[in-house]
This record gives sequence, structure tokens and C-alpha cells, in this order.
Amino acid sequence: MRLILLGPPGAGKGTQSQIIAEKCGIPQLSTGDMLRAAVKAGSPVGLKAKEIMAAGGLVPDEVVVGIIAERISEPDCVRGFILDGFPRTLPQAAALDALLKSKSLKMDCVIELKVDDAILASRIETRARETLAAGGTVRADDNAEALKTRLMAYYRETAPLTGYYFAHGLLKTVDGMAPIGEVTGQIDDVLGLVQAG
Ligand code: ADP
Repeated sequence: MRLILLGPPGAGKGTQSQIIAEKCGIPQLSTGDMLRAAVKAGSPVGLKAKEIMAAGGLVPDEVVVGIIAERISEPDCVRGFILDGFPRTLPQAAALDALLKSKSLKMDCVIELKVDDAILASRIETRARETLAAGGTVRADDNAEALKTRLMAYYRETAPLTGYYFAHGLLKTVDGMAPIGEVTGQIDDVLGLVQAG
């Protein structure tokens, strides 16, 4: 099963993709996590991405496409994978299509987590507060200023992907405002239908 989770920052993509990954026994591929690891390691990709990410901007398409091309070629991806945070632009979506086509593979489903715009800032604030309370380090981009830029990037670059995948007959929308378990239940229903079909 090859899936994409779409949704704005704070929609719960990471939470839900972890749950699906565990249940289906396929890896969760989060470009955000991979880029944060690269920043931490100080690799060439990390050096390129660090400032852009901290400000809430998008890392260049060729960088993330390169990361994903390598990652989906690894053996643990043969049974499928969940893309979390990729693609984020139309050129990334086109590159992914070409990549899959070159491997004679196809995407099975794109799940959009729909949430009210007004709640996103408070979700991100809560995540930052909880991380601090647990003794963790708050993400460099989990602050009001960077969030504004992340949301703008989302509306400008990523939101059009719902139209793109709708046109490809792949888009399923679930209510991301429901409690975590209910969102998981809705996703299970969607995936059951995809598998049956
Ligand atoms: P969120 O969805 O909460 O904003 P992510 O962890 O998915 O967080 O991404 C964090 C940051 O990593 C993004 O704001 C962006 O700078 C960078 N990033 C992640 N994925 C991509 C991508 N596909 N294209 C460009 N930049 C990306």
C-alpha cells in the first residue's frame, strides 16, 4: 500500500501516519523528520535546509525529491510506504509520479486531513508547550512567526495538491478535527475501501 497524507501544519499527519505505519507494517516517510535529522547531523543537505526550515519556508524541490527517490528505493519500501509531508508542491507531485512510473508502481490513495484554519496556530502552540513540559526541545519552526510562513507556504504551494489528486481519482478526505482515535477510524474505513477496490 502506497499512501500520501496531506494537510496543513498541525493537522495530525505525523500522528496518523505513525499509527497507519505500525498497523500496516510499512514505513512512515516524513521529509520533515529526515530533514531535521540532516540538520542535526550537519550533512550538506542539512546545511542547505537549516535556515529555510527555521524560518518556515520550503526546502528546494530537488533536495526533497532526491531524498525521497533514495528512500523509496530501500528494501523496507517494497511492500509500500506512507508519505508524510511530501509532496508539498506541484513539481514535487509530478516528480513523484515520474519516480513511481519508472519503477512501474502507482500511488494507491491520498488522504487529506481537513481541519479548520483557525485551530492550527493553537495546535502548534500546544505541541510546543507539551514538548517543553516533557523536557524536550521545541522545533525551531514551532513559533508564531515561522508558523505564519509555514501556513502561507501551505496555502500557496501545497493546498493545490488536493485538486491534483482529486483529478487523478486518488483523493479521500477525512475530518481531522475529530479526536485522534476517530480520525484513525475514518482512515481505516478509507483504506479498507481502497484495499477492497
Ligand atoms: P509541518 O507539516 O508541521 O509543517 P514537517 O515536519 O512536515 O512539519 O516539515 C517541517 C519543515 O521541513 C517544513 O516547514 C519545510 O521547511 C521542510 N520540509 C518538509 N518536507 C518538505 C517538502 N516536501 N518540501 C519542502 N520542504 C519540506
